[in-house]
Amino acid sequence: MKLLEDKILKDGKVLAGDILKVDGFLNHRLDTALITELGKDVAKQFAKCGASLILTVESSGISIAFAAGQAMGLPVLVAKKHKSQNISDGVYTASVFSFTHKTENTVLVSKEYLSAADKVLIVDDFLASGNAAMGLLSLVEQAGAEAVGFVAAIEKMHQGGRALIEEKGIKVYSLACIKEMRAGEIIFN
Ligand code: 5GP
Repeated sequence: MKLLEDKILKDGKVLAGDILKVDGFLNHRLDTALITELGKDVAKQFAKCGASLILTVESSGISIAFAAGQAMGLPVLVAKKHKSQNISDGVYTASVFSFTHKTENTVLVSKEYLSAADKVLIVDDFLASGNAAMGLLSLVEQAGAEAVGFVAAIEKMHQGGRALIEEKGIKVYSLACIKEMRAGEIIFN
């Protein structure tokens, strides 16, 4: 998506450790007009997928998932990283290694909000090595629900996450696909 690629070129910064900093528009300060357009693009791509629910993980995926949910008229389920008192005992959990923080996190959703009847479109901000995607897919599988697609706003193709998801027969769609990046240079696919 050209709009997002242009924004990444203008305001994104490549940091050490293969990290793209996009916190000026995607995950700290939010460019609401841009994110609304991302949501509309996701809705166009997945218009016929029959999804009943969008699943994301806190916190960086929430804004894009919300925009997609709004454009598709679907609810958004946010996997939590900490169990709060509001969530009852019945939860699905998965362990996810965080690429950015280098720590293992447990993600969880309440069984109340994810059921075998659901067709789930998973939405996140980044697809890198695929750990977050695998954790979210595990939650869907535990519920006996069906994953109808995986969406990342930004994919770093060289980190291999796409293959793990496609191996499961799930469609992957990224709004901006980065083939290579280094300080001062970002090359899209
Ligand atoms: P993965 O699990 O696919 O390796 O990484 C995906 C998760 O790590 C995303 O949820 C995202 O929050 C974070 N992440 C991965 N790569 C980057 C990056 O280059 N920049 C930022 N800001 N977050 C990233």
